[in-house]
Amino acid sequence: MPELLFHGAAGEVTGSMHMVQVDGRWLALDCGLFQGHRREAEEKNRRWPMPAQQIDAVVLSHAHTDHAGRLPKLVRDGFDGPIYCTPATRDLCAYMLPDSAHIQEEDAHYTNKKRARKGEPPIEPLYGTEDAVRCLKLMRTIPNNQPFNPLPGVTCSFNEAGHILGSAGVLVKFAKTGKLGDALYFSGDVGRFNQPIIHDPASFPQADTVILESTYGGKQHADGETALKQLFDVIDRTIRRGGKVVVPAFSVGRTQAIVYYMQEWFDAGRIPCIPVYVDSPLAIHATHVFRAHPELYDHQARNLQKRTGEFLRNQCVEYIHDVADSKALNDRREPCVIISASGMCEAGRIRHHIKNNISNPNNTLLLPGYQGEGTLGRRLADGATEIRIFEEDRKVRAEVVQLSGFSAHADESELLRLMDPLRGRTKHVHLVHGEADAQTKLLAALTQKSFKASIAKPGERVAL
Ligand SMILES: [Zn+2]
Repeated sequence: MPELLFHGAAGEVTGSMHMVQVDGRWLALDCGLFQGHRREAEEKNRRWPMPAQQIDAVVLSHAHTDHAGRLPKLVRDGFDGPIYCTPATRDLCAYMLPDSAHIQEEDAHYTNKKRARKGEPPIEPLYGTEDAVRCLKLMRTIPNNQPFNPLPGVTCSFNEAGHILGSAGVLVKFAKTGKLGDALYFSGDVGRFNQPIIHDPASFPQADTVILESTYGGKQHADGETALKQLFDVIDRTIRRGGKVVVPAFSVGRTQAIVYYMQEWFDAGRIPCIPVYVDSPLAIHATHVFRAHPELYDHQARNLQKRTGEFLRNQCVEYIHDVADSKALNDRREPCVIISASGMCEAGRIRHHIKNNISNPNNTLLLPGYQGEGTLGRRLADGATEIRIFEEDRKVRAEVVQLSGFSAHADESELLRLMDPLRGRTKHVHLVHGEADAQTKLLAALTQKSFKASIAKPGERVAL
């Protein structure tokens, strides 16, 4: 009998990894990096639910680090099976995994300098660039809605998730007496309706068991229009007071969305053509991937492209490659928008921009995405008045704005809207990828709609 084993993103948000066992073979749904409190994440990132060689295949929902970022570690530890994903997910991983490897190598280097001072032996990086490259070679791309067989007796297909470019939910069907039945659906990360650039999430397929993300259980996002107005107002008032808007954003998705909106507002003459700097090599690569996949654009994005003859490009938008050019942004005095990674302010060039701009009351720190527990982004979102960054203290005097409606994740009503057609068919819903409070609330909402549901626990096994 097929079996489900929860490993990561069970009772927490990061480290997405759910194991499916069929006839003694193991299929991993996602293989994400644990993030947050450093020491704890470090320890979790070195542990597998079983030896890596015993995992036969991976099906990957999307390219975000908390879903794909531990794949090179899996390969380093002995996995050499196929990794299935959509073409855009592979293209994004081609940049994101080597970048993540680079961060791991730097982290280990930094830790080892500290350890050497204490006379402690050095630690190995979680994985290196060569592991990321080997991992990419194992990837097999499958477009949405096309069946494939990751294991004997198992048929999967991807279903548009509307979360980031290339993102998908995964339908897993099991062969029983020669007939495919008893489907499992893994939602992956579910996007919002009416998000910029990409398509809306597709309807969930009928399934007996659903693994559902719960990031925004109990939450209602502002509707798209209100969120967009908030974004416009924040940028507009910062320009008026002569400040800079610093935006920590995931390199994929939020960065392109903000550039997309700025391009629309420039085009419509709603905002003066101030410089927009995209200061993240990874975001630049991701933007190339967006341009390479116009088949994934929604109606409005196609229109903008047709109307202006450009996409995510404009005379005001500048993509910054070199570190020297990134540093030179510190000397700019005129109003501008600086978009940089990482999205939760934990790594990357954004930390320099925060350090240099956070104490000027004319500036704005705009947090467009979810901020995980234990991250600098979360402390700022929660109203920290002072932060420590690069071993220096900084007073927080800039305006700090968290945009909730500008999320890449569905809110509770959107999740329930997608679940509704499954009422009466789905036997059990397992909630993953959420903090305790969000999960408890979504559980209550699903129960009220007569779904049988529970919050997945790490190590929990379920017969399918
Ligand atoms: Zn995601």
